[in-house]
Amino acid sequence: SLPPPAQPMASDAAEEGAPGDVDATRQVLLYYCYAPLAGRERDVARWYERDCGARGLVGRVRVAADGANATLRGSERQLRAHQRALGCAEALGTAAAGVDFKYGPGEAADGADGALAAQCGVDALHVRVTGELVTLGPRAARATVADAGVHLSAQEWHALANAGTAADTVLIDARNAYESAIGRFEVPAAEARASAGGDAGPGGTPAPTAAVERPPPTLTPQIRQMSDFAQWAEDNERALRGKRCLMYCTGGVRCERASAYLRKELGVLDCYQLSGGVHRYLDAYGTRGLFRGKLFVYDDRLATDYGTTLGGGEHCGRGSGGGTSEAVGECLGCGAPCSDYAVGGRQRCGKCRMLVVACAACNGARAAAADQAGGQWECALCAAAAAERARAPPPPQRRLRVLCLHGFRQTGKQLRGRLAKLRGKLGDLVDFKFADAPHLLLSPREWNERQRARRRLECADEQGGPKDEGHNAPAPAAPRRAWLVGREDHERLYGPVRASPERDAGAGAEGGAEDAAAAATVWAAQRYGWEQSLARLDEVTAAAGPFDGVLGFSQGAAVAAALASRRPESFSFVVLASGFESPAAPVVADSADGAVSAVPSLHIYGDGSAEGDVGYGGADGARVAREAEALAARFDAASRVVVRHRCGHIMPTDKEALVVYRKFLLGQAAATASS
Ligand SMILES: [Zn+2]
Ligand SMILES: [Zn+2]
Repeated sequence: SLPPPAQPMASDAAEEGAPGDVDATRQVLLYYCYAPLAGRERDVARWYERDCGARGLVGRVRVAADGANATLRGSERQLRAHQRALGCAEALGTAAAGVDFKYGPGEAADGADGALAAQCGVDALHVRVTGELVTLGPRAARATVADAGVHLSAQEWHALANAGTAADTVLIDARNAYESAIGRFEVPAAEARASAGGDAGPGGTPAPTAAVERPPPTLTPQIRQMSDFAQWAEDNERALRGKRCLMYCTGGVRCERASAYLRKELGVLDCYQLSGGVHRYLDAYGTRGLFRGKLFVYDDRLATDYGTTLGGGEHCGRGSGGGTSEAVGECLGCGAPCSDYAVGGRQRCGKCRMLVVACAACNGARAAAADQAGGQWECALCAAAAAERARAPPPPQRRLRVLCLHGFRQTGKQLRGRLAKLRGKLGDLVDFKFADAPHLLLSPREWNERQRARRRLECADEQGGPKDEGHNAPAPAAPRRAWLVGREDHERLYGPVRASPERDAGAGAEGGAEDAAAAATVWAAQRYGWEQSLARLDEVTAAAGPFDGVLGFSQGAAVAAALASRRPESFSFVVLASGFESPAAPVVADSADGAVSAVPSLHIYGDGSAEGDVGYGGADGARVAREAEALAARFDAASRVVVRHRCGHIMPTDKEALVVYRKFLLGQAAATASS
């Protein structure tokens, strides 16, 4: 298809105002649009250059595979004409129909048009092609706007934020640390909301008069850029899980994918986003709403792409575009209330170049000392990172060697894959080694085919006909392994076993109520093969050892617990994830009081509360938690550490859990070094 004409038609020009029409009202237009543009980003960028050029529009446009984002300035008639043209196939197509177009004043009250344009950095047209509309990075690649949180109008947002409590709701500022530092949503305490009874928004939302409860907190990610958001969300997963998440950003573009990330990757499903961002909220509520301080905007910087001054009544280029005059930020130097980056010129961290809030007096002092040591600002993020490095104990002389045992129907290689993240986080402390269990299981397909073959044999026997042995031999599949197996698997592998009432007790329910209860745990029937597994583990220890500790997951944890309690000379600690004690391989008590094992132990298991938290073999989460707890009780409380988590992950890798792991492992490293 032919590109649209570069110049508007003569009649359009007459109707809409000719380019460069100096008498037309100057306006700023701001919008974003998520649309599948992959493969034609350059064509769309060229369309923008043609269309905006023909209409005399200036500003910044960002075109990416997943959409476009624009801040444009020009005559209102030309901006509106541009808006109508966006729906053509060469531009955004049908996706343009759902776009929220925000118009705002494009000139200062004094009409100093040229100076303002220069200050805003929109004296020319800049069209840029980028990878993502919002750079969330590869970790969030699967989170597309199709998974985004529910859009709320300013009024709906206001009502939900006011109705929430700290127990059920959390506000998430999906902006960078330097943006939330000078202004953010803050829900006041309930009594304040109740006493301000007349504070109904323009939507007529009545302020709640509910019992006095703590208001929902506002989480302000301490991040320098959006590509750090995924890591922040993961580190703070516990604060989000099970809560209603109300997310906001400047104009809405960041929340689209940030909320999708929470829903898709972290399973935080009850997630909402403020449609049109703080801009639209301030349009509706101004200073009478829940937003306190200043709204950070990017107007005077060409390198960034969000926001403009709309309806805030302030000049752009000052790092704030509306909000209340109240200072919610504080000076990095003296702690005085301060919410303005413009005082004495923008100040930046000497290490990471992030903007820092500083009062005029402190700015002056820094400027005077700029060439001396300590003359540079250090932002809160850099200071926190430095403090954490200083607090961290010195790294151990050598890494702990830990033997890792996989679960039932897994392999060492599979467990290695499942622990990839943990290995990354603890790689400086631990050298993980993975072993394979000795017993080979049938794949589900092999099992089905064997069942079918058996039925065919039985039929043939009854009819006295020939047996079709060998017919349809099962195809080889990737082997799955186990440390402990049921009687049937054991006989398939090693031939008939002597009947053992003790071992077979858990396999059937004929023995009465007690056996029925035992049979309820799937692993109760897996009572064979411990001798071979212990022999295999002794071989592995001799060949690949020595080891410092042993880690196990599920059935691997049952075996690791038994192994460490029997081989204290080979394993000085044990890490057990979602474990249980197997009747076939009980933990050997060796402590002074003779009741528990004295081996230092770290236990990690779900508390059974997570939705869909189904554990090993389909056992429900609560039962898995009980079994893991019972196993933990078999180890000496003095050297036992327990991490109960609310997620179904085998070993959570959030910040809180990692702190506990590291502390335990560093303790073991110190004990190993001194012994
Ligand atoms: Zn100060
Ligand atoms: Zn810094």
